[in-house]
Amino acid sequence: MSLQVLLVEDDRELRLILCEALRVEGYQVHSAASLAEAQALLRHAPQPIDLLLLDLGLPDGEGETLLAQLRRAQQTTPVLVISAREQDGHKVRLLDAGADDYLVKPFSVSELLARMRVALRHRGVHTQAALTRYEQQGLRVDLAAHRVSLEGVEVHLTPTEFKLLARLVRSAGQVVTHRALLSDVWGPEFTAHTHYLRLYMAQLRAKLEREPADPQRLLTEPGVGYRLEGRE
Ligand code: CA
Repeated sequence: MSLQVLLVEDDRELRLILCEALRVEGYQVHSAASLAEAQALLRHAPQPIDLLLLDLGLPDGEGETLLAQLRRAQQTTPVLVISAREQDGHKVRLLDAGADDYLVKPFSVSELLARMRVALRHRGVHTQAALTRYEQQGLRVDLAAHRVSLEGVEVHLTPTEFKLLARLVRSAGQVVTHRALLSDVWGPEFTAHTHYLRLYMAQLRAKLEREPADPQRLLTEPGVGYRLEGRE
């Protein structure tokens, strides 16, 4: 059965382009041009929605309202925000509020489809087995065995470096905010200590990147957080 996507976007032209592209990919697309339409569709859709694409500026309110409603209701449907707004603070707030990812317009359809696959895979992973292995471009991480190797050579990480890498592996391909990393690796009382992150990320890059100054795996999302290059 095809996956159900709800696209909430008031720009008619973009809505039609995305609907068509998503249908070609095999998704069943429902579209809404306003918050009210989206809420009605979520309530009355014949099948549960598997993924939500959410614009922020809508004629009857903010997309954020819908995100908050979903998360308050403990709905874990993946939500990808698509918006023209690029302020980093805004991205951070949305990700911390439970959005899975954030694409700034204009974006390419192939980028959108890739991010959708990552978000869906993560959601599937949560309900099945925990994500414990990562293998990409010569880097292998086995969380259960506590082993990391690069081009076949074992890499020694300190316990904190390993915890930080493990957190990124569990969300490979998705941006993880500074706040989430600090809270999960050091503890909730450390969310303001972003200098810890800079220090440990530099150490990880020195061990895991061919060119630490030009990272290809441990990517910075400026002002937002970090992303471990995803597995497609
Ligand atoms: Ca809009």
